[in-house]
Amino acid sequence: MATSSSTTQLEIQLGEDDDLLLGAESGWVEARTSCDHLASLSSDLVHIPTLATPCNRCDQSSENWLCLCCKDVLCSRYVNKHMLQHFQQTNHSVALSYSDLSVWCFVCDAYLDAQVIPQLQSVHETAHILKFGRARPSRTVRTSISSFRWLVRHSNDL
Ligand SMILES: [Zn+2]
Ligand SMILES: [Zn+2]
Ligand SMILES: [Zn+2]
Repeated sequence: MATSSSTTQLEIQLGEDDDLLLGAESGWVEARTSCDHLASLSSDLVHIPTLATPCNRCDQSSENWLCLCCKDVLCSRYVNKHMLQHFQQTNHSVALSYSDLSVWCFVCDAYLDAQVIPQLQSVHETAHILKFGRARPSRTVRTSISSFRWLVRHSNDL
């Protein structure tokens, strides 16, 4: 019968923000799916400063990180390196970028996959809502279908 029309209702969400997240860095590298330095994460990552919060040290607001251990907002190594200095002084190694919502571990010296690591999922979700005003689209859609849009033609059913 009409078995071939099973994709009719398929709705693909390829948001603009996905391009923004993935295309932000030219040297995109695979993020780690585990990290041994999450023990000192703040116990309250539900309440985090707004993404417009300036660096606590130098008041810059162009490119900041949120320390996920003490929730300090500090500027990146491309501004005045205050997040890096904070890590060196306190050993708080895990931070979330307020520019592109990536999570970095200074000890692993690598990005962490916040959508896979359970301790990071909720804060990443919270930051995403703060940034875009809504939850991010589901990840399964993005990984199973690359930059490709389905053209669904209902008239095929005839
Ligand atoms: Zn780590
Ligand atoms: Zn700073
Ligand atoms: Zn800290």
